[in-house]
Amino acid sequence: MEHVLQGLHHITAIAGDAKTNFKFYTEVLGLRFIKKTVNFDDPHTYHFYFGDEIGSAGTILTFFPWGAGIPQGRRGSGMATEIGYSVPKGSLDFWIKRFEEHNVIYNKPATKFGEKYVTFLDPDGLKLELIEVEDNRKPWITNEVAIEHATRGFHNITITLNDIKGTSHVLTDIFGYKLVSKEINRYRYVIDTVEHASIVDLVELPEEKRGHVANGTVHHVAFRVIDDETLMYFREKVEAAGLNITPQIDRNYFHSLYFREPGGVLFEIATDNPGFTVDESVEDLGKNLKLPAQYESRRSELENHLVKLN
Ligand code: ZN
Repeated sequence: MEHVLQGLHHITAIAGDAKTNFKFYTEVLGLRFIKKTVNFDDPHTYHFYFGDEIGSAGTILTFFPWGAGIPQGRRGSGMATEIGYSVPKGSLDFWIKRFEEHNVIYNKPATKFGEKYVTFLDPDGLKLELIEVEDNRKPWITNEVAIEHATRGFHNITITLNDIKGTSHVLTDIFGYKLVSKEINRYRYVIDTVEHASIVDLVELPEEKRGHVANGTVHHVAFRVIDDETLMYFREKVEAAGLNITPQIDRNYFHSLYFREPGGVLFEIATDNPGFTVDESVEDLGKNLKLPAQYESRRSELENHLVKLN
C-alpha cells in the first residue's frame, strides 16, 4: 500500500484556567469533551481533548490548561495563528448571535478563497475561525448547538511565517500537499488523500515578529497517518530531508513523532491507532480522569490537585 499522509490529526494549544476552557469549548462551541487526562510530562496539569463523538482525526483540539495567571502568549511568525472549523452554509448568523450572548470577541464576516468566515477569540485569546463550507462529517450536537449549526471538524490551519519556503517544502515534498491557490500573501495548500481537514494556509509576513508560545497560542500541529508503519515511513522522509525528528512516542491514544519544521513550528505526525476508545467506551468518553499507567498509583494525589470541572 502506498504510504500517505491524511491531513490534520489534532491541534494542541495552551489555555489558562481549566474550567473556563472546558466550559467554552463544550458549552459555547458545542464540542464533545472526549478525554480528560494529564500532561504526560507534567501530571499536575490537565490535558483536555475536544472533538466529535469519537474523537475522529481532523476534529481534535487539545489543550494544556496551565492555570489562571500564566503569561500571555503572542501570535507571530513561526506559529500556527488561526484554527479553522467548518460549519454549515448559512450558520454564521447563529454563531454571531451566540458570540454576542456569550461576550465572545469576533470580527464581522469576511471572505477568503470564496468562503465566508468569521474570526473569533476564545477566553484566552486563541484565534479561531468558523468557515461556511460543504462538509458531510457527522457533527456532535448539544441542546444549544443543533445539527444545522454544529462544527464539523477542522477545515484548515493557518501558519504565519517570515518566509514560506522551508515550510512549503515540508508540506509539498515530504507530506504530499499541493499549492492550489494564492490570495495576496496567503498560500493555500491542499492534500487530496482526505476530503476534510485537508488544508494548510501559509501566510507570508516578512516583517512579522516571532510568536511566543504561552497562554492563548497554538503549541503544535499534528498531521494524520493511518498506522505505525506509515508513521515510520514519514520518519525516514523527514530525516532524509535533514531535519531532526524524535523517536516514536506512545501518547496512549495515538503514536507520535515530533519535529520542528524550518519555519519554526512544531509539527507532529500521529497515528489513527489506537484511538480514544482504548480506555473508555464511546458513551463514557471524557467522563473520568484517565491516567497513563505510570501515574495510576498517584491517582488520589493528582485528583486532589487538579481543578474540579463541574
Ligand atoms: Zn500532539
